[in-house]
Amino acid sequence: MLNENALKYGSQGSAIRALFEYGRQRAAVVGKEKICDFSLGNPSVPPPRALFAAFEAVLKEDPMATHGYTSSWGCDELRAALAESLTRRFGMTFRPENFFITAGAAAALTACFCALTPDRDTEFIALAPYFPEYKVYSETLGAHLKVVPADEKEFQIDFAALEAAINRNTRAVVINSPNNPAGVVYTEETVRKLGELLRLKSREAGHPIFLISDEPYRELTYGGVRVPFAPLYYENTLVCYSWSKCLSMPGDRLGYVLIPEQTAEWRQVFAAVAGASRMIGHVCAPSIVQKAVAKCVDAMPDLTVYERNRNLLLEALPAMGYECARPDGAFYLFFRAPRGDGASFCEEAKAKDLLAVPAATFGCPNHLRIAYCVDTAVVERSLPVFRALIEGK
Ligand code: PLP
Repeated sequence: MLNENALKYGSQGSAIRALFEYGRQRAAVVGKEKICDFSLGNPSVPPPRALFAAFEAVLKEDPMATHGYTSSWGCDELRAALAESLTRRFGMTFRPENFFITAGAAAALTACFCALTPDRDTEFIALAPYFPEYKVYSETLGAHLKVVPADEKEFQIDFAALEAAINRNTRAVVINSPNNPAGVVYTEETVRKLGELLRLKSREAGHPIFLISDEPYRELTYGGVRVPFAPLYYENTLVCYSWSKCLSMPGDRLGYVLIPEQTAEWRQVFAAVAGASRMIGHVCAPSIVQKAVAKCVDAMPDLTVYERNRNLLLEALPAMGYECARPDGAFYLFFRAPRGDGASFCEEAKAKDLLAVPAATFGCPNHLRIAYCVDTAVVERSLPVFRALIEGK
Protein backbone atom coordinates (compact mmCIF):
# COMPACT_ATOMS: atom_id res chain seq x y z
CA MET A 1 0.00 0.00 0.00
CA LEU A 2 1.32 3.41 -0.95
CA ASN A 3 0.16 6.92 -0.20
CA GLU A 4 -2.44 7.66 -2.86
CA ASN A 5 -1.46 11.30 -3.40
CA ALA A 6 2.26 10.55 -3.39
CA LEU A 7 1.76 7.87 -6.02
CA LYS A 8 -0.54 10.08 -8.11
CA TYR A 9 1.75 13.10 -8.17
CA GLY A 10 4.89 11.00 -8.54
CA SER A 11 3.46 9.07 -11.49
CA GLN A 12 1.93 12.04 -13.30
CA GLY A 13 4.87 14.42 -12.94
CA SER A 14 4.38 17.96 -14.22
CA ALA A 15 3.37 18.78 -17.79
CA ILE A 16 6.13 21.41 -17.94
CA ARG A 17 8.85 19.01 -16.79
CA ALA A 18 7.62 16.37 -19.27
CA LEU A 19 7.96 18.87 -22.13
CA PHE A 20 11.42 19.91 -20.93
CA GLU A 21 12.54 16.25 -20.86
CA TYR A 22 11.10 15.76 -24.35
CA GLY A 23 13.14 18.81 -25.50
CA ARG A 24 16.34 17.31 -24.13
CA GLN A 25 15.74 14.00 -25.88
CA ARG A 26 14.74 15.68 -29.14
CA ALA A 27 17.84 17.91 -29.01
CA ALA A 28 20.01 14.80 -28.73
CA VAL A 29 18.44 13.53 -31.99
CA VAL A 30 18.17 16.67 -34.17
CA GLY A 31 20.67 19.00 -32.47
CA LYS A 32 20.06 21.73 -29.89
CA GLU A 33 20.24 24.48 -32.51
CA LYS A 34 17.21 23.06 -34.34
CA ILE A 35 14.90 23.37 -31.33
CA CYS A 36 13.16 26.42 -29.88
CA ASP A 37 12.70 25.24 -26.32
CA PHE A 38 10.50 27.64 -24.36
CA SER A 39 9.32 25.02 -21.85
CA LEU A 40 11.00 25.70 -18.53
CA GLY A 41 11.52 28.82 -16.38
CA ASN A 42 15.18 28.05 -15.82
CA PRO A 43 17.17 31.34 -15.73
CA SER A 44 19.56 31.75 -18.66
CA VAL A 45 21.73 34.60 -17.40
CA PRO A 46 24.62 33.82 -15.05
CA PRO A 47 24.34 34.80 -11.38
CA PRO A 48 25.84 38.22 -10.58
CA ARG A 49 29.57 38.48 -9.77
CA ALA A 50 28.60 39.40 -6.21
CA LEU A 51 27.24 35.88 -5.65
CA PHE A 52 30.46 34.19 -6.83
CA ALA A 53 32.51 36.55 -4.64
CA ALA A 54 30.25 35.77 -1.68
CA PHE A 55 30.68 31.99 -2.14
CA GLU A 56 34.46 32.45 -2.37
CA ALA A 57 34.46 34.46 0.86
CA VAL A 58 32.28 31.93 2.69
CA LEU A 59 34.62 29.10 1.71
CA LYS A 60 37.43 30.90 3.56
CA GLU A 61 35.39 31.20 6.76
CA ASP A 62 35.05 28.68 9.61
CA PRO A 63 34.30 25.38 7.83
CA MET A 64 32.38 24.03 10.81
CA ALA A 65 29.92 26.90 10.49
CA THR A 66 29.84 26.85 6.70
CA HIS A 67 29.05 23.17 6.50
CA GLY A 68 27.23 22.67 9.79
CA TYR A 69 23.51 22.93 10.54
CA THR A 70 22.06 26.41 11.03
CA SER A 71 19.03 27.05 13.23
CA SER A 72 15.97 25.56 11.57
CA TRP A 73 14.62 29.10 10.96
CA GLY A 74 17.87 30.13 9.23
CA CYS A 75 21.23 31.67 10.06
CA ASP A 76 21.50 34.98 11.95
CA GLU A 77 23.47 36.78 9.21
CA LEU A 78 20.86 36.12 6.52
CA ARG A 79 17.86 37.01 8.67
CA ALA A 80 19.58 40.23 9.82
CA ALA A 81 20.51 41.18 6.25
CA LEU A 82 16.92 40.57 5.13
CA ALA A 83 15.43 42.64 7.94
CA GLU A 84 17.72 45.53 7.02
CA SER A 85 17.11 45.23 3.27
CA LEU A 86 13.32 44.96 3.37
CA THR A 87 12.98 47.70 5.99
CA ARG A 88 15.06 50.01 3.78
CA ARG A 89 13.32 49.10 0.53
CA PHE A 90 9.67 48.85 1.48
CA GLY A 91 9.12 51.36 4.28
CA MET A 92 7.91 48.85 6.88
CA THR A 93 9.94 47.75 9.86
CA PHE A 94 11.08 44.12 9.95
CA ARG A 95 13.18 42.17 12.44
CA PRO A 96 15.19 38.99 11.85
CA GLU A 97 12.51 37.11 13.80
CA ASN A 98 10.00 37.75 11.00
CA PHE A 99 11.86 35.51 8.53
CA PHE A 100 11.77 31.73 8.26
CA ILE A 101 14.43 30.63 5.74
CA THR A 102 13.46 27.78 3.42
CA ALA A 103 14.80 25.77 0.50
CA GLY A 104 13.19 28.00 -2.15
CA ALA A 105 9.68 29.32 -2.67
CA ALA A 106 8.27 25.82 -3.14
CA ALA A 107 9.20 24.92 0.44
CA ALA A 108 7.97 28.29 1.70
CA LEU A 109 4.60 27.78 0.03
CA THR A 110 4.22 24.19 1.22
CA ALA A 111 4.87 25.34 4.79
CA CYS A 112 2.30 28.16 4.54
CA PHE A 113 -0.40 25.96 3.00
CA CYS A 114 0.15 23.38 5.74
CA ALA A 115 0.28 25.95 8.57
CA LEU A 116 -3.04 27.43 7.39
CA THR A 117 -4.92 24.12 7.07
CA PRO A 118 -6.75 23.36 10.32
CA ASP A 119 -9.09 20.72 8.83
CA ARG A 120 -10.37 19.04 5.68
CA ASP A 121 -12.94 21.79 5.05
CA THR A 122 -10.09 24.22 4.37
CA GLU A 123 -10.18 26.05 1.07
CA PHE A 124 -7.48 28.07 -0.68
CA ILE A 125 -8.18 30.33 -3.61
CA ALA A 126 -5.88 30.76 -6.58
CA LEU A 127 -6.48 33.22 -9.40
CA ALA A 128 -6.07 31.85 -12.91
CA PRO A 129 -3.62 31.74 -14.52
CA TYR A 130 -1.92 30.16 -11.51
CA PHE A 131 1.22 28.14 -10.71
CA PRO A 132 0.03 24.49 -10.94
CA GLU A 133 1.92 23.30 -7.87
CA TYR A 134 -0.59 25.15 -5.62
CA LYS A 135 -2.98 22.31 -6.38
CA VAL A 136 -0.43 19.72 -5.26
CA TYR A 137 0.35 21.63 -2.05
CA SER A 138 -3.33 21.98 -1.05
CA GLU A 139 -4.72 18.63 -2.19
CA THR A 140 -2.04 16.60 -0.44
CA LEU A 141 -3.08 18.29 2.82
CA GLY A 142 -6.71 17.29 2.25
CA ALA A 143 -7.57 20.94 1.57
CA HIS A 144 -9.32 22.20 -1.56
CA LEU A 145 -7.93 24.67 -4.12
CA LYS A 146 -10.66 26.79 -5.68
CA VAL A 147 -9.63 28.52 -8.91
CA VAL A 148 -11.12 31.89 -9.81
CA PRO A 149 -11.25 32.25 -13.61
CA ALA A 150 -8.86 34.69 -15.24
CA ASP A 151 -9.67 38.21 -16.33
CA GLU A 152 -8.52 37.34 -19.84
CA LYS A 153 -8.25 40.97 -20.95
CA GLU A 154 -5.91 42.62 -18.48
CA PHE A 155 -4.96 39.60 -16.33
CA GLN A 156 -5.60 41.64 -13.19
CA ILE A 157 -8.19 40.27 -10.69
CA ASP A 158 -11.86 39.65 -11.48
CA PHE A 159 -13.08 40.95 -8.11
CA ALA A 160 -16.71 39.94 -8.57
CA ALA A 161 -15.63 36.34 -9.21
CA LEU A 162 -13.16 36.41 -6.30
CA GLU A 163 -15.76 37.77 -3.89
CA ALA A 164 -18.22 35.07 -4.94
CA ALA A 165 -15.58 32.37 -4.34
CA ILE A 166 -14.75 33.37 -0.75
CA ASN A 167 -16.69 31.60 2.00
CA ARG A 168 -16.28 30.71 5.69
CA ASN A 169 -13.84 27.90 4.86
CA THR A 170 -11.48 30.14 2.91
CA ARG A 171 -8.17 30.33 4.76
CA ALA A 172 -6.05 32.13 2.19
CA VAL A 173 -5.95 33.64 -1.27
CA VAL A 174 -2.70 33.03 -3.17
CA ILE A 175 -1.35 35.63 -5.57
CA ASN A 176 1.73 35.61 -7.75
CA SER A 177 2.88 38.93 -9.21
CA PRO A 178 4.89 39.21 -11.44
CA ASN A 179 2.96 36.20 -12.63
CA ASN A 180 3.98 32.81 -13.89
CA PRO A 181 2.65 32.21 -16.57
CA ALA A 182 1.28 35.61 -17.67
CA GLY A 183 4.26 37.86 -16.81
CA VAL A 184 1.68 40.41 -15.66
CA VAL A 185 2.33 42.62 -12.63
CA TYR A 186 -0.65 43.54 -10.44
CA THR A 187 -1.19 47.29 -10.28
CA GLU A 188 -1.27 49.19 -7.00
CA GLU A 189 -5.03 49.62 -7.43
CA THR A 190 -5.49 45.86 -7.76
CA VAL A 191 -3.47 45.10 -4.63
CA ARG A 192 -5.22 47.84 -2.65
CA LYS A 193 -8.68 46.55 -3.68
CA LEU A 194 -7.61 43.02 -2.79
CA GLY A 195 -6.56 44.14 0.69
CA GLU A 196 -9.90 45.91 1.19
CA LEU A 197 -11.88 42.86 0.05
CA LEU A 198 -9.93 40.47 2.30
CA ARG A 199 -10.34 42.81 5.29
CA LEU A 200 -14.11 42.93 4.73
CA LYS A 201 -14.40 39.17 4.19
CA SER A 202 -12.24 38.43 7.25
CA ARG A 203 -14.64 40.52 9.36
CA GLU A 204 -17.63 38.64 7.95
CA ALA A 205 -15.95 35.26 8.49
CA GLY A 206 -14.85 36.13 12.03
CA HIS A 207 -11.26 34.99 11.33
CA PRO A 208 -8.40 36.33 9.23
CA ILE A 209 -8.36 35.28 5.60
CA PHE A 210 -4.66 35.32 4.78
CA LEU A 211 -3.00 36.53 1.64
CA ILE A 212 -0.11 34.33 0.50
CA SER A 213 2.03 36.42 -1.83
CA ASP A 214 4.23 34.13 -3.93
CA GLU A 215 7.06 36.37 -5.12
CA PRO A 216 9.93 34.53 -6.82
CA TYR A 217 9.89 37.08 -9.67
CA ARG A 218 9.63 40.23 -7.51
CA GLU A 219 12.86 41.77 -8.81
CA LEU A 220 12.32 40.85 -12.46
CA THR A 221 10.43 43.76 -14.00
CA TYR A 222 10.92 45.80 -17.15
CA GLY A 223 10.47 49.41 -18.19
CA GLY A 224 10.64 50.70 -14.62
CA VAL A 225 7.44 48.91 -13.50
CA ARG A 226 7.22 48.56 -9.70
CA VAL A 227 5.70 45.60 -7.89
CA PRO A 228 3.45 46.82 -5.05
CA PHE A 229 4.66 45.25 -1.80
CA ALA A 230 1.62 43.29 -0.60
CA PRO A 231 2.11 43.65 3.22
CA LEU A 232 1.75 47.42 2.80
CA TYR A 233 -1.81 46.88 1.57
CA TYR A 234 -3.04 44.00 3.73
CA GLU A 235 -1.99 43.15 7.26
CA ASN A 236 -2.41 39.35 7.12
CA THR A 237 0.03 38.77 4.28
CA LEU A 238 2.61 35.99 4.27
CA VAL A 239 5.31 36.56 1.67
CA CYS A 240 6.93 33.52 0.04
CA TYR A 241 10.15 34.61 -1.64
CA SER A 242 12.97 32.91 -3.49
CA TRP A 243 16.35 33.80 -4.96
CA SER A 244 15.95 31.11 -7.64
CA LYS A 245 15.13 33.52 -10.44
CA CYS A 246 16.56 36.89 -9.39
CA LEU A 247 20.00 35.48 -8.49
CA SER A 248 19.80 32.78 -11.18
CA MET A 249 20.36 30.02 -8.62
CA PRO A 250 17.30 27.71 -8.70
CA GLY A 251 19.46 24.67 -8.02
CA ASP A 252 20.90 26.14 -4.84
CA ARG A 253 17.44 26.20 -3.17
CA LEU A 254 16.98 29.28 -1.04
CA GLY A 255 13.95 31.35 -0.10
CA TYR A 256 11.94 32.47 2.90
CA VAL A 257 8.56 33.03 4.46
CA LEU A 258 8.12 36.57 5.78
CA ILE A 259 5.61 36.81 8.63
CA PRO A 260 5.20 40.53 9.42
CA GLU A 261 4.36 41.49 12.99
CA GLN A 262 1.10 43.10 11.88
CA THR A 263 -0.15 39.60 11.03
CA ALA A 264 -2.78 38.33 13.46
CA GLU A 265 -1.01 36.20 16.11
CA TRP A 266 2.20 36.35 14.11
CA ARG A 267 4.24 34.33 16.61
CA GLN A 268 1.71 31.50 16.41
CA VAL A 269 1.76 31.67 12.61
CA PHE A 270 5.57 31.61 12.66
CA ALA A 271 5.51 28.54 14.93
CA ALA A 272 3.04 26.81 12.62
CA VAL A 273 5.22 27.54 9.57
CA ALA A 274 8.22 26.13 11.46
CA GLY A 275 6.20 23.07 12.50
CA ALA A 276 4.88 22.54 8.98
CA SER A 277 8.46 22.62 7.68
CA ARG A 278 9.50 20.11 10.32
CA MET A 279 6.64 17.84 9.24
CA ILE A 280 8.09 17.62 5.73
CA GLY A 281 11.63 16.96 6.93
CA HIS A 282 13.09 20.45 6.74
CA VAL A 283 16.12 20.64 9.00
CA CYS A 284 17.59 23.89 7.71
CA ALA A 285 18.13 25.46 4.31
CA PRO A 286 21.62 24.75 2.84
CA SER A 287 24.06 26.54 5.19
CA ILE A 288 26.66 27.51 2.62
CA VAL A 289 24.01 29.09 0.40
CA GLN A 290 22.44 30.99 3.30
CA LYS A 291 25.79 32.40 4.33
CA ALA A 292 26.72 33.42 0.78
CA VAL A 293 23.38 35.09 0.05
CA ALA A 294 23.59 36.94 3.38
CA LYS A 295 26.51 38.84 1.82
CA CYS A 296 24.57 39.90 -1.29
CA VAL A 297 20.81 39.92 -0.58
CA ASP A 298 20.27 42.91 -2.88
CA ALA A 299 22.47 41.77 -5.79
CA MET A 300 20.86 41.45 -9.20
CA PRO A 301 21.94 39.72 -12.40
CA ASP A 302 22.08 41.62 -15.68
CA LEU A 303 18.52 41.39 -17.02
CA THR A 304 19.31 42.82 -20.46
CA VAL A 305 18.79 39.51 -22.26
CA TYR A 306 15.33 38.96 -20.76
CA GLU A 307 14.26 42.48 -21.59
CA ARG A 308 15.61 42.18 -25.15
CA ASN A 309 13.80 38.86 -25.67
CA ARG A 310 10.59 40.23 -24.27
CA ASN A 311 10.74 43.31 -26.49
CA LEU A 312 11.48 41.22 -29.58
CA LEU A 313 8.53 38.92 -28.91
CA LEU A 314 6.22 41.76 -27.96
CA GLU A 315 6.99 43.57 -31.19
CA ALA A 316 6.76 40.55 -33.45
CA LEU A 317 3.94 38.35 -32.17
CA PRO A 318 1.07 40.87 -31.91
CA ALA A 319 2.03 42.14 -35.39
CA MET A 320 1.52 38.59 -36.68
CA GLY A 321 -1.92 38.48 -35.01
CA TYR A 322 -1.17 36.84 -31.65
CA GLU A 323 -3.10 38.20 -28.64
CA CYS A 324 -0.62 38.53 -25.76
CA ALA A 325 -0.96 39.54 -22.12
CA ARG A 326 1.37 42.47 -21.39
CA PRO A 327 4.39 41.00 -19.60
CA ASP A 328 5.94 43.65 -17.39
CA GLY A 329 7.78 41.09 -15.30
CA ALA A 330 9.09 37.53 -14.87
CA PHE A 331 10.24 35.90 -18.14
CA TYR A 332 7.06 34.47 -19.58
CA LEU A 333 4.84 35.43 -22.47
CA PHE A 334 1.26 34.22 -22.38
CA PHE A 335 -1.01 34.29 -25.36
CA ARG A 336 -4.30 33.05 -26.74
CA ALA A 337 -4.01 30.07 -29.09
CA PRO A 338 -5.00 31.41 -32.53
CA ARG A 339 -7.47 28.61 -33.21
CA GLY A 340 -8.87 28.39 -29.70
CA ASP A 341 -7.31 25.36 -28.07
CA GLY A 342 -3.92 25.72 -26.36
CA ALA A 343 -3.18 21.99 -26.34
CA SER A 344 -3.64 21.45 -30.07
CA PHE A 345 -1.68 24.60 -30.91
CA CYS A 346 1.21 23.37 -28.75
CA GLU A 347 1.08 20.01 -30.54
CA GLU A 348 1.33 21.81 -33.91
CA ALA A 349 4.25 23.83 -32.51
CA LYS A 350 5.94 20.71 -31.15
CA ALA A 351 5.80 19.15 -34.62
CA LYS A 352 7.91 22.14 -35.74
CA ASP A 353 10.28 21.72 -32.78
CA LEU A 354 8.96 24.78 -30.95
CA LEU A 355 8.15 23.85 -27.37
CA ALA A 356 5.46 25.89 -25.62
CA VAL A 357 3.39 24.88 -22.60
CA PRO A 358 -0.38 24.45 -23.07
CA ALA A 359 -1.99 26.61 -20.41
CA ALA A 360 -4.75 24.23 -19.27
CA THR A 361 -2.25 23.39 -16.52
CA PHE A 362 -2.45 27.07 -15.42
CA GLY A 363 -6.26 27.17 -15.57
CA CYS A 364 -6.53 28.81 -19.04
CA PRO A 365 -7.09 26.09 -21.67
CA ASN A 366 -7.24 28.55 -24.57
CA HIS A 367 -3.79 29.94 -23.90
CA LEU A 368 -0.15 28.89 -23.98
CA ARG A 369 3.02 29.99 -22.25
CA ILE A 370 6.50 30.48 -23.53
CA ALA A 371 9.45 30.96 -21.15
CA TYR A 372 11.76 33.45 -22.88
CA CYS A 373 14.68 32.95 -20.48
CA VAL A 374 16.69 31.65 -23.44
CA ASP A 375 19.41 32.95 -25.74
CA THR A 376 18.16 35.72 -28.02
CA ALA A 377 19.17 33.55 -31.00
CA VAL A 378 16.41 31.09 -29.98
CA VAL A 379 13.83 33.88 -29.98
CA GLU A 380 15.01 35.07 -33.41
CA ARG A 381 14.86 31.53 -34.77
CA SER A 382 11.36 31.07 -33.41
CA LEU A 383 9.75 34.05 -35.19
CA PRO A 384 9.34 32.45 -38.64
CA VAL A 385 7.96 29.35 -36.89
CA PHE A 386 5.37 31.47 -35.05
CA ARG A 387 4.42 33.07 -38.36
CA ALA A 388 3.99 29.70 -40.06
CA LEU A 389 1.91 28.47 -37.11
CA ILE A 390 -0.54 31.37 -37.15
CA GLU A 391 -0.88 31.10 -40.92
CA GLY A 392 -1.65 27.39 -40.47
CA LYS A 393 1.25 26.34 -42.71
N1 PLP B 1 6.14 29.97 -7.45
C1 PLP B 1 6.16 30.25 -8.76
C2 PLP B 1 5.10 31.13 -9.32
C3 PLP B 1 7.15 29.72 -9.59
O1 PLP B 1 7.15 30.01 -10.90
C4 PLP B 1 8.13 28.87 -9.03
C5 PLP B 1 9.15 28.24 -9.87
O2 PLP B 1 9.15 28.27 -11.06
C6 PLP B 1 8.07 28.61 -7.65
C7 PLP B 1 7.07 29.17 -6.90
C8 PLP B 1 9.08 27.72 -6.98
O3 PLP B 1 10.31 28.35 -6.99
P1 PLP B 1 11.58 27.80 -6.17
O4 PLP B 1 12.59 27.38 -7.17
O5 PLP B 1 12.05 28.95 -5.39
O6 PLP B 1 11.11 26.70 -5.29
